This record gives sequence, structure tokens and C-alpha cells, in this order.
Amino acid sequence: MILLTGGLGYLGSHMAAQIIEQGHEVVLVDNLSNSQIAVLDRLSKLTGRVIPFVQIDVRDKAALQQVFSQYPITQVVHFAGSKSVNESIQQPLDYYDNNVNGLISLLYVMKEAQVKTIVFSSTAAIYGEPEALPISESARQAPITPYGRSKQICEQVLQDLAHAEKGWKIAVLRYFNPAGAHQSGIIGEVPNGIPNNLVPYIAQVARDERPFLQVFGNDYNT
Ligand code: NAD
Repeated sequence: MILLTGGLGYLGSHMAAQIIEQGHEVVLVDNLSNSQIAVLDRLSKLTGRVIPFVQIDVRDKAALQQVFSQYPITQVVHFAGSKSVNESIQQPLDYYDNNVNGLISLLYVMKEAQVKTIVFSSTAAIYGEPEALPISESARQAPITPYGRSKQICEQVLQDLAHAEKGWKIAVLRYFNPAGAHQSGIIGEVPNGIPNNLVPYIAQVARDERPFLQVFGNDYNT
């Protein structure tokens, strides 16, 4: 069984739909800080399955331990985290706490449960201002925001753990801004409050939920 943390968020819910379709068993955890419980019903409708879900914060080790003892988890995909670049500049402590402490709490509980396979959802923001495009995987890492730095620290924690202890299987995905929705239209990107990503913002303007999209600058080669 695969544990998806942040499983009701944008990427987590789409991954859940995809891997359930491929025949995997999943359990989702989420604290609903940037998602809605309605996504669970939509996922059930989409997959025709009752999907186990537990509302917890991944920094709550005791609650996570309960999830690991209740479900036969063998792998984890860690999506839970805070992802707004702007917000991270205003609230750096919250970002380091949620992203770094969230991962460390999860790793402690995984280790205790002898579950040592994890995919970590990192970000291309760890590269900062690119020296060349396209950015290669080995490009210099120089994150320019607390968000990017928090993810870089997470990657270092994972690397140090893999060096120190045998048995860990760790993959890190550094991606840019994904966009789009499941082809059924049943799930998509539905953040709480003002979207921090461009595409849901544009979608809300198109639906008249927001008056306009502010474009900064006028010399983009688009
Ligand atoms: P999202 O906000 O839609 O999903 C994250 C989910 O995690 C939300 O449902 C939120 O409620 C939950 N969550 C946050 N903190 C939690 C905590 N402490 N405990 C339990 N649940 C918690 O974001 P997303 O777009 O699905 O991104 C998922 C991950 O991928 C994030 O870690 C993000 O940094 C990373 N990422 C996203 C993008 C992007 O553009 N969407 C790009 C690169 C990396």
C-alpha cells in the first residue's frame, strides 16, 4: 500500500487517481490546509473505490504512527508541504517548519515502521536564477527564496539519511509548475483562498470569481 501525504492536494489527488487506476492500494493523509475534503468524494467517484483517508498533520508523529500501524504501508510519496514562493518570503518560519519538520517527522515514523521507500516532491526552485536554459539536473543550486531553500534542506536530509543508513530507497523529483487537470474534469487544482499558481488563478478570473489577472512587466517574449 502506498501512502500519499498531501493526498487531497493538486498533485497528490492526481497521482492517487493514476495509481489506483493502475491497481495500487493507497491511503491518503492531509491536514486540509490547502485542500478540501470534497476532493475525496470526487476521487471516489472517479475511481469507483472507497479511498482510505486520515486527516492529520504530518508533523504530528503520534498521529502518523497510528496511520502506519493501521495500514500495511510499504512506500510513501511525500507531497504534503507549503508551496507559495511569496508566502515563504513573508512567513519563513512557517515554511521551514512545515516543509523541513514535516519531512523529518515522516522519516522518523517510516524508519520506526521499517518503511524505507520514499519519493519526495521537491522543486525546480532549488536552482534559483538559472545560468542556462533548459536547466540541467546538475545545474548549480542557488535557491533565492525560503521555499526553495526549505526544499533544498529536505533534499540534504534525505541524502544524509541515505548515506548513513542502509536500506533507504529515495527518489527526488524537482519539477517546475505543472498545470492542467484530470481528463474527466472531476478533479483539478483547487487551492484554498487566493491561488498561488498561475493556472488556477487564470481559471478563477475566467469564471468571474476574480476581477482580473495582474501582469507584471510588459516586455515578455511570449
Ligand atoms: P497542494 O498545496 O495542492 O498540495 C499539498 C497538500 O498538502 C495540500 O492538500 C495541503 O492541505 C497538504 N498539507 C500541507 N501541509 C501539510 C501537513 N503539514 N500535513 C498534512 N498535509 C499537509 O500543492 P501541490 O501543487 O499538490 O504540490 C505538492 C508538493 O509538490 C508540494 O510539496 C510542492 O512544494 C511540490 N511542488 C509543487 C509544484 C506546483 O507548481 N504545483 C511544483 C514543484 C513542486
